[in-house]
Amino acid sequence: MIRRFTSERAEPAARGAEFGETWREEVAGTVAGYEDLFANHAGAAVDLAPWGERARTAIRDWAPAIAAEIEGIAAGADLPVASVYAINARTEILAGLQVVTRGECSTVVGLGAGVAPVSVQTWDWYAHLAESWLLWRIELADGRRVETVTEFGIVGKIAVNDAGFGVHFNLLRHRSDGGLPGVPVHVVARRAIAEAGDLEEALRLVGSARVSASTALTFVASDGRDATAVSVELSPEGPRYVLPDEAGLLVRTNHFLDPLASAGDREPSLAGDSFFRLDLLRRRLGGRPPAAVADAVRALDSHLGGVGALCAHPPEGSDGEFEYATLATVSIDLASGCLDVIPDGPCTVAAADYHLNSKGVTSR
Ligand SMILES: [Zn+2]
Repeated sequence: MIRRFTSERAEPAARGAEFGETWREEVAGTVAGYEDLFANHAGAAVDLAPWGERARTAIRDWAPAIAAEIEGIAAGADLPVASVYAINARTEILAGLQVVTRGECSTVVGLGAGVAPVSVQTWDWYAHLAESWLLWRIELADGRRVETVTEFGIVGKIAVNDAGFGVHFNLLRHRSDGGLPGVPVHVVARRAIAEAGDLEEALRLVGSARVSASTALTFVASDGRDATAVSVELSPEGPRYVLPDEAGLLVRTNHFLDPLASAGDREPSLAGDSFFRLDLLRRRLGGRPPAAVADAVRALDSHLGGVGALCAHPPEGSDGEFEYATLATVSIDLASGCLDVIPDGPCTVAAADYHLNSKGVTSR
């Protein structure tokens, strides 16, 4: 099921309060889901208060408007402010707890001459959080519009705006992760999409964020004539850039592609699936940019490698708890400034019927 929401309020604290009031149970569900996840990995309950306090300091410093929105969400949902800050820093908390999770997500961007970019990713995450996300439309005070697929209470993830650029999200792990309270990567993505006027400004903003957990933010931009894509590999050691190949294809999974950053990559010692997913995806695409969204979805429809597959499902016979699954498949449509999304993985939709947004949408 897809939940969809359009914020009516443009002022950050009011927008947050409206969101929190509307989705009170769901935001509380995200907090509870992460409390369960952290406890499962840490072997004991994890107090969110100190983590939330550290995130609050970092977010207030780097993105005060987003801090106001988060505090609004907490007030609207009647939850402790630290809990909502903490879920916005869930990637940083997992890194700080030294939790060994599998990587998440596979992304395909195709830039062809004279055609709109094809920009698709799977979102793989824990199956017990499968109902914890929505498609959220935000109208900003300056009249601009943002759409994001994100978890209830987290300010952004995969996103697009009506200024001609969007961002994909892929978790990375680096030996420098943890440590200082950095700006949460979900906050970095949201601010870049909502505040930057163009790709150059977005990259400058992203480069200014000191992070304490690694993630690849893959930006795609088009002005209707030219298109470009830049995958920014963020780690506490600083941003590195990865570009499409000469054919215009950019494929990324969950290991660092930049040679310098890959020297500190923890992925080879944690899980190898990111590497074979990348290779498989490239070959299923024939090494060429996909001509249409359906071609990218078809390429992502593979179950080779079990829970590490491009289209991931919990192992047969398991109850799915704390197991990985592909929770959503998301396409960025730069021309309309909208996201197209289906719940679940690429295998659940026949490519010929790939009309995203048409399945099970409920609005509030
Ligand atoms: Zn599948």
